[in-house]
Amino acid sequence: MQKKEKKFLKKPINGTKFTLAISSAKGGVGKSTFAINFASALSLLGKKVGILDADVFGPSLSKLMGIQEKPVIADNKQIEPINKFNLQCMSMGFLVDGNTPMIWRGPMVISAIKTLTEKVNWHDLDFIIVDMPPGTGDTQLTFAQDIKIDGAIIISTPQELALADVKRGIQMFDRTEIPIIGLIDNMSSFSADGKTYNIFGKDGVEKVAKEFNKKFLGQIPLDIDLRKSADEGQPLVNKNKDHAISKIFLDLAKKITEGFQ
Ligand code: ADP
Repeated sequence: MQKKEKKFLKKPINGTKFTLAISSAKGGVGKSTFAINFASALSLLGKKVGILDADVFGPSLSKLMGIQEKPVIADNKQIEPINKFNLQCMSMGFLVDGNTPMIWRGPMVISAIKTLTEKVNWHDLDFIIVDMPPGTGDTQLTFAQDIKIDGAIIISTPQELALADVKRGIQMFDRTEIPIIGLIDNMSSFSADGKTYNIFGKDGVEKVAKEFNKKFLGQIPLDIDLRKSADEGQPLVNKNKDHAISKIFLDLAKKITEGFQ
């Protein structure tokens, strides 16, 4: 039988072994918070990890990692990533004034993504975690079609409104031939005074995973320390690796890296 031709010519990101995309179909579901804590968990497991904030419209890595400095341009004209909490970090937010709204037109977005993926001196990474822009528009497509992504993790809250978009996200990755590692249910529940509340609904993400024959990777509850730590500019996993939420991230990181040796 003839081998199926690959439709896309995708380039790997220089200096990295595996590229994992963290994606969400909708903003505000905790994609970036997941990305930094997952990256931190991989780093605690002894991997060399970089994090690329590809959300050129609303970069948040500077805030989430407490990074104020500007990156250095190396002799080879490449941009040096900024090292923080044992992670190599790069974001459009490091390169432009943080107070200016990001108004990009199509070709500018493509050029911004080219800069982030081709002009950064990543140093010998086992994993680069790409915090994708939310949605399934032009930027996401450019990325998905041009960059060799070894796996995507889709983050969602369990509410109906988010799930409709998740289905579109799954289809985008399937069409661009990016393997979906699995789906995560973030803000799955909130527990207080011995009671658990399913604020955004229950088990919706798991149901979508089943419907599309994808893996359901697990739940992350709403947690005040996770939110506080993100606001303070440090991944909770890095601040307190023994926290119950950190243990969830460490388990996920172990489970997911088994497939990437
Ligand atoms: P996105 O990248 O999807 O836009 P963010 O990661 O910026 O979302 O998260 C949005 C807000 O929700 C942030 O204030 C973040 O700290 C908070 N957040 C995300 N996940 C959780 C969680 N499981 N528990 C509590 N707060 C969370």
